[in-house]
This record gives sequence, structure tokens and C-alpha cells, in this order.
Amino acid sequence: MPFASLGLSPALSHAAAQAGFLAPTPIQAAAIPAVLEGADVRGAAQTGSGKTAAFALPLLQILSLSDVGAKGPRRVRALVLVPTRELAAQVGEVLRSLAQHVQQPPKVAVVFGGVSINPQMMGLRSGADIVVATPGRLLDLVDHNALRLSAVAHLVLDEADRLLDLGFAEELQRVLALLPARRQNLFFSATFPAAVQTLADSLLNNPVHVDVPGTPGNEPAIEQRAIAVDASRRTQLLRHLVKEHHWSRVLVFVATQYAAEHVAEKLYKAGIYASPFHGGLSQGARKQVLQEFKDERWQVVVTTDLAARGIDIAQLPAVVNYDLPRSAVDYVHRIGRTGRAGDSGVAVSFVTADAEAHFRLIEKRQNLTLPREQIAGFEPTETASTAAVPGSGTGGIKGTRPSKKDKLRAAAAAAAAAAGAADSAAQKKGS
Ligand code: AMP
Repeated sequence: MPFASLGLSPALSHAAAQAGFLAPTPIQAAAIPAVLEGADVRGAAQTGSGKTAAFALPLLQILSLSDVGAKGPRRVRALVLVPTRELAAQVGEVLRSLAQHVQQPPKVAVVFGGVSINPQMMGLRSGADIVVATPGRLLDLVDHNALRLSAVAHLVLDEADRLLDLGFAEELQRVLALLPARRQNLFFSATFPAAVQTLADSLLNNPVHVDVPGTPGNEPAIEQRAIAVDASRRTQLLRHLVKEHHWSRVLVFVATQYAAEHVAEKLYKAGIYASPFHGGLSQGARKQVLQEFKDERWQVVVTTDLAARGIDIAQLPAVVNYDLPRSAVDYVHRIGRTGRAGDSGVAVSFVTADAEAHFRLIEKRQNLTLPREQIAGFEPTETASTAAVPGSGTGGIKGTRPSKKDKLRAAAAAAAAAAGAADSAAQKKGS
């Protein structure tokens, strides 16, 4: 099925072809006509299945047919909210590259925190047609009168369930209060837990529900494995797996910023190019690590759930849950960093004795039963302890809060991180 048959103009069909999209993915085939018709959409489809273009292509078409480029200041017509800075940059890039092919390209502004606000304010001086933003910085810019949202006709929540959950509730309410009541709402995610679905539907107006189920034909080809291992042997096992499978790149998830620093450092000392990536790093360091990982200059990136959502790293063969995710939803997003856009990938979860019960819950929610593999030389000897100790294999389990000491360690690690990341990157560059 060609893109044009979905109602896309020749310019945007050409834009899709130039992006290398031969045919629409199922979410695109279902969502694009609905968005073009002006309907509200709640779109759910697997990770890596082309959700960005599912809203970007029709939005660009709608805006290119409206008064964009007409005389007068540009007014923000479309607002795309995302939960992380990296995702803002990524979605902005997709919109800009597709927009190039439109005759009078809408202007796309990308704003997020962690960097100076001044260049963003300057960039908004001549207005923007589309703003891609993290909620906090968007509100700062509104407070600085750098931006008005009163003409927004299209609101996109990318990773909608994350934006609708408690962590963003207050900011999201403030943003919604600044938007016109009459607007098109487009909510996309790979996961919509039941509680969030109700909230989402209360914000949507007579929505089209696009649910692309994970049928064998279009499910991402992610091989899921669970390896039973003692908490204290996980780093060695990780080294073993990286070498044995010759993984060109691996994204390793841990529970805390401290663990990201610690595990990356151990791997680096063992001769594997590994870098931490987490919210305690400066935005400059975060950007650099991610770009270098995409450029295959780091073999392993050890991260928190910061990297679990939306981030698109082409040809990432493996994801490892060194610490288990807190929830089944997080599991879906973490493993979804591999097996994207038709590629295959492997997702390995380390299951310590203390984490066994938690992993069983994740399996149950996912309708999944994975055999517990044992790797020769790494056979587990530990049994579950009664007290869950953060960092000993149960880190990240819902309800396990970091202790004061953990927080202090994380803060110290964060402070050391910027310098550390810069140092190790410099070392690596020099090598
Ligand atoms: P997303 O889910 O939007 O992050 O997209 C995941 C990956 O799929 C990205 O690398 C996109 O460039 C790619 N992609 C999106 N749409 C298509 C398509 N129609 N055909 C092939 N690849 C696509």
C-alpha cells in the first residue's frame, strides 16, 4: 500500500520515500487517514513501529495546507509533548527532515530543559509553527513570554502514558489549561495501562482508537531471554555475553544512576568501551554519549530508565536488564529499544534469586514464560533473602526506595559524572 493511498499529498509521500519508508507500517496505515480527517486519536502500537511518522506526516500536511508561510508572525499551531530531552531532539529531527519536502516548510522549534533557555528564546522570536517540548521547559518559556499556546490546534502526546502518569500530572495540567479547548488531540504510546486509558479518554474528544496488536506478522523480532545469576556475578556475566555474542552495541539497564556509573566503570576497566548515561549527567554529556553510541563509538551504554522511552538507535542488537525494571510497562519500553523497524534483537534479563518473584510478575503481566537459563561458569548459588537490599539484584522493584545513603551516593556519582564522562570520552577519543 503506498503512502499516497492514505490521503498524503505527493510532497509528503515523497518525504516518506526520502526517509526510506517504502510502505506505511500498520500504525501509520491506520492513524494517518484519521489524523488527516481531523479526528482525535489514541494510537497504541509496539515500540519501534513508526509512531513518530504516524503523526508527523499528516500534521505536516495539515499545516502546509493552512496559513503557514502567510504574512504575519508565525503562531504555534501544533504542540508535541514528550517526556525526555533526547526524545524531543529525536522527534524534532524527524519533523524537520520530513518538512524539508514541503513547499513552505513549517518551522519546527525544539525546546527542552538542562540547557540554557536563552538560545531557545531567541529561536522563538520569529515564532514557530510546530513546537516539540518537554513540559517543564515549555512552561518556563511561557512564563518568560517567549511563547504563546493560544493558537494550538493540534496537541500530540508522544509516550502519552508516561506524560499522563503522576510524574508529569501537574505540568501537564498547566499546559492543557493554556491550550484552546477546541483542538485535535493525538495520543501515542506502546503501552496504555488501564488507569491511564481512562484518563486519556477523558481528555480525548470522540477518539479513533488505533490499536495495532502484536500479531506474529508485525511483532518486533525480539528474542527474550532470562538468565539466572547471582547478583555479585552480573558484571562478569555481562562481559562474558558481550564477548561471546560479539554484540556490536548493547544497552544495559540498571536501577540507579550510581549503578550506571559503577557498572560502566567496571566494564571500562575490563577493556570494554562502556559509558554511563543517566539524568545526573549534564545535558551536554548526555547528548554526547547518545550520539557516540549511535556512531558506534561506545560498545556498551549503561543507563537508567531515562533511555527506556522512545529513543531510536538503529541496529541495536541487544538490550540487557542488569537490574529488572520496576514494572511490566517499563519492561516493554526497555526491550523495545532493540528489534526496531523490522530489525531483530535480543533482550536478556538477569534474574537473581531476590528478583525471581518480581520477574514472575512481569512475565504474568506480559503473558510470557521464559525458561531460566544458566550459563556455564555463572550458575547461581544464592537463594532469596528475606530483606531486599537495593543494588543486590532487587534494585528497581516497585516499592523499593533508595536509602538515604543511596541518594548520597547517587548525588556524589552525579557530581563526578560530568567530569567522568567527559574524561572517559576524551580518553576514548584519544585512543
Ligand atoms: P518510531 O517508532 O517512530 O521511533 O520509529 C522506529 C523506526 O522505524 C525509526 O527508525 C523510523 O525511521 C523507522 N520507520 C518509521 N516508519 C517506517 C516505515 N514506514 N518503513 C520503514 N521504517 C520506518
